[in-house]
Amino acid sequence: MVEAFLEREYHELRTQLERHSRLYYEMDAPEIEDSEYDAMQRRLSAIEEEYPELADADSPTRRVGGQANAKFSPVRHAVPMESLRDAFSKDEVQGFLQTVLNQFPDAGFVLEPKIDGLSVSLEYENGVFVRGSTRGDGTVGEDVTENLRTIADLPKKLKNAPASLEVRGEVYMPLSVFRRLTAEQTEQGETPFKNPRNAAAGSLRQKDAAITAQRGLSLFVFNVQQAAEVWWRTHSDSLEALRDMGFPVVAFYQVLSAPDEILAELEHIGEKRVKLDFDMDGAVIKLNQLEERRRFGSTAKYPKWALAFKYPPEEKETTLLDITVQVGRTGVLTPTAVLEPVLLAGTTVARATLHNQDRIADLGLCPGDRVLVRKAGEIIPEVLRVTVHAEGGSPFNMPENCPSCGAATLREEGEAALRCVNAACPAQIVRHLVHFCSRPAMALDGFGDAIIGKLVTEGIIKTPADIYKLNKDKLIELEKIADTSAENLLKSMENSKKNDVARLIFGLGIRHIGEKAAKALARHFDNLRALTSANIEQILEIDGFGKVMAQSAVDFFALKETAELLDLLETAGVNFSSLEQNDEQSVLAKQTFVLTGTLPTLSRAEATAIIEQHGGKVSSSVSKRTSFVLFGEDAGAKLTKAQKLGIPLIGEAEFLRRVNIQIDHMNG
Ligand code: NAD
Repeated sequence: MVEAFLEREYHELRTQLERHSRLYYEMDAPEIEDSEYDAMQRRLSAIEEEYPELADADSPTRRVGGQANAKFSPVRHAVPMESLRDAFSKDEVQGFLQTVLNQFPDAGFVLEPKIDGLSVSLEYENGVFVRGSTRGDGTVGEDVTENLRTIADLPKKLKNAPASLEVRGEVYMPLSVFRRLTAEQTEQGETPFKNPRNAAAGSLRQKDAAITAQRGLSLFVFNVQQAAEVWWRTHSDSLEALRDMGFPVVAFYQVLSAPDEILAELEHIGEKRVKLDFDMDGAVIKLNQLEERRRFGSTAKYPKWALAFKYPPEEKETTLLDITVQVGRTGVLTPTAVLEPVLLAGTTVARATLHNQDRIADLGLCPGDRVLVRKAGEIIPEVLRVTVHAEGGSPFNMPENCPSCGAATLREEGEAALRCVNAACPAQIVRHLVHFCSRPAMALDGFGDAIIGKLVTEGIIKTPADIYKLNKDKLIELEKIADTSAENLLKSMENSKKNDVARLIFGLGIRHIGEKAAKALARHFDNLRALTSANIEQILEIDGFGKVMAQSAVDFFALKETAELLDLLETAGVNFSSLEQNDEQSVLAKQTFVLTGTLPTLSRAEATAIIEQHGGKVSSSVSKRTSFVLFGEDAGAKLTKAQKLGIPLIGEAEFLRRVNIQIDHMNG
């Protein structure tokens, strides 16, 4: 008989877990830490173990992931996409290894990093990528084929693949991309992604694949789900085969058999994780021999032949010494926690971003508080919570005036961020120039925060064009700049004039135009002058561009100040042209096709492969940006929509003729 208070706790826990599962899997918006979720899940398991009558098939201990979202077409997985059993201690790992070895003394194990992203299934027919989906609840996932196509790492065509193949992998956001994206989000006054996993899931599960394309996602593949032909007998051989086919296979996996070696290696991987460009929340230990896996089978949720060892996120307590406020390039005021330095995941942490006033209020921060800090995605220091409030501490409030220029600050409706709207604010000018000079922009090496700060304070420079007016004397006049450093600065200034125009476009700091978008603009318009006179429709022709981005670019180039700046830069000799080799040689370069109906001879997969081989893209829906609709018998609504929009319609014969004629033409 279960005692009433336990039963109540059990049901409360279930309600909580269900809520957090929904927030995490379905909305990509977790509210609690993974470790907190795991602790609740463990407590639920412990109660169920003691009182099995409480558990049913719907219990969070038996269910995988979350429900597929109805905004995507459902995909029923032919092979269930299971979860993994977690272990949090070396003893649990020992126990698992012994259980397997007792039944199968010759067992070999593969150790892989457990990448923290989101699980996807990828399907190939005759070596061509045809469909991809999320895990969903393990049985039914979401069709995210078009979004997956935008991931550069994902092979669209395989070498020597079985006639049909389904693999499983993890889509993740590299930490370098995560750092850049969250910095951009903070700079723009948006709420930044909480961690790389959340960022990957939110970026992939987009209705508009153009947004996914902007997010720099990557992929690792770690399992064959099913294949028409299998020539491997072990998991490690299957990984080799996947690599040969062209997949980015899970990094630094190893085959080991002795428990001691495995435990030592877990330790080693744990130390390595702070140096990687992807977030890993654990290491997975898998039985290597595929035939033997059957002997072990699966529970409702996970296979019994594998185990995920979870590394605890390193958390440290320290004192919040102060909160300082910086003014960014776009005028957004960002608060930063100044901490008593602590060693955390390999580096000394003395500062942590606090994002905005709401975040400070949620945490209830007062300078002097003892706080718990950790690194989000092992990389970005963040304050988790207050452990002990400072006696008599007073809550921190963002300043009403800009700490740089003193102008009143403003909080726009619906925005979490405060802004200084004074365009002449020196802090904004410095940040803007630092951005212009940064590596991904004009790469003006040597022009960092300190020098630019000084040049601005002394009134020597104000706009990027002023940088090109600098000469040796002016630089030497500045305290602490030696002769050779001045020469180096001038050299990097001269070199930067020859940059590809994409760097310049990015460096101009146009709102919503990141590095990738700047490259696309440069490639599309070839010359900056063509871009400055472009209208929204012309910019929208670029794959991956939406209205907000296009409008922002048009508005920026319509400004009188922009025109003046560009004239000065051009006169200074800054290159305005794209230097990238044009991909025009690919017959269908920059052309987007939509397929509808049944083609007389080609399957969809074949037509897709031909289009992609010739540099084109296939999209699932017709829009103004569609170049052609390739239609066959029983074509549906897409054809009608294309007719309405005046998109050229072509049949298979015409399509093949175009490809062939162009090929002949090129060969001739
Ligand atoms: P999991 O994420 O712990 O493990 C299974 C997943 O690992 C698979 O889906 C797979 O895609 C991935 N994986 C990565 N690398 C792999 C590799 N090399 N081999 C095999 N699989 C690999 O399990 P889960 O059930 O998806 O999620 C549980 C996790 O989600 C826990 O960490 C939990 O804390 C977290 N969670 C958090 C909240 C929250 O509110 N914070 C809510 C729900 C779940």
